Amino acid sequence: MITRNNGFSNLTAGYLFPEVARRRRDFAAANPGKKIISLGIGNTTEPLTPHIAEAMADYAAALGTKEGYSGYGDEQGLTALREKIASVIYNKRVQPSEVFISDGAKCDIARIQCLFGNSVAVAVQDPAYPVYVDGSVIVGAAGGLTENKSGYQGITYMPCTPGNNFFPDLSAIKKNSLIYFCSPNNPTGAASTREELQRLVDFARENGCIIIFDAAYNAFIRDERLPKTIYELEGSRRCAIEINSFSKPAGFTGVRLGWSVVPRSLLFEDGTPVIDDWNRVMTTLFNGASNIAQHGGLAALDEKGLSEMKTQVDFYLENAGIIRDTLGAPNFKAARVKIFSTGNSPYVWAQFPGFKSWDVFDKILEQCCVVTTPGSGFGPSGESFIRFSAFGHRENIIEACSRLKTLKF
Ligand SMILES: *Cc1c(COP(=O)(O)O)cnc(C)c1O
Repeated sequence: MITRNNGFSNLTAGYLFPEVARRRRDFAAANPGKKIISLGIGNTTEPLTPHIAEAMADYAAALGTKEGYSGYGDEQGLTALREKIASVIYNKRVQPSEVFISDGAKCDIARIQCLFGNSVAVAVQDPAYPVYVDGSVIVGAAGGLTENKSGYQGITYMPCTPGNNFFPDLSAIKKNSLIYFCSPNNPTGAASTREELQRLVDFARENGCIIIFDAAYNAFIRDERLPKTIYELEGSRRCAIEINSFSKPAGFTGVRLGWSVVPRSLLFEDGTPVIDDWNRVMTTLFNGASNIAQHGGLAALDEKGLSEMKTQVDFYLENAGIIRDTLGAPNFKAARVKIFSTGNSPYVWAQFPGFKSWDVFDKILEQCCVVTTPGSGFGPSGESFIRFSAFGHRENIIEACSRLKTLKF
């Protein structure tokens, strides 16, 4: 018999979201007829905007004609889209040839792990989006579980807490590490300042590290002082890869379209440009993003599309504001619940002192029929926190919030 890949046996229990889904299903089965509202998983809810939807519909219809048909394209993506991303998103700080179009940020993060192999040291923010750790475990880069089973031996967890304003102590990171960094952060919502990100870049340069900068929420940044891409920081072209996506700003979670940027000046120890190997990964293990999705992406980045995306992002940010206000209601105040929400993210991160995350999750589900996400599922430092997602129809957000105001502790 074939032996099981150790990486899989090393994975701890379930992936977070399936466990959330399981508890929701059990609750629904025991409470038929009750309307459950989800402020849980970060999935978009609002329809595609007209201009972007039309561009994809037109392209899809043309595929049924001789003139409009297209098959495989370049694995790296449409040249026009790579150019548009380089100019519109990066203001020409990166070259179109350094942009790789993909089927989404999560898939890129997974492929990145095969680029660096199983002997690389890994550092993650704690709490963090689960794929950084679980993907490292699957490729064997995380090592075995720590003795208390709260983490992995090969991974440096960098606590991001109210105590450090959600920016980690970098001194714990080993030399030559792969550093996963997400800002604005999922789940904490924290958006790092220019000064903080410069410290991160300087640290990476001085210590031979490569930063995988997950900028999936950069369209939610409303504070103009905050950098929207790692490439605004000096020295970043020598130490950072950026991952991004149309999922959250354009509602492409189901359409699937993202991109990565690997600057030509980013090198491995032996002087090989990382971009050459990345190009190899993308052309060998990936066969290009959907042509339809890429035409949606092109439409999203023209003037009309950009304005539609901004309206959609503003809508979710308003939802986040409604949730934040709700968590200031007397019942939450009395329980000394602390709210962390920066106005630059679709997530509200809240701390429930004296409670375990899963207990608060169950309490909210049972009393309010509202699904949230337990902070502990994102890492040990997320314990006692709950993540509230602002992705939802307005009427659902309002109803969920009115129920939350009745929550008893
Ligand atoms: C949603 C999300 C992604 C996934 O994006 P896709 O392009 O849909 O795969 C990546 N990173 C973070 C932090 C996310 O929250």
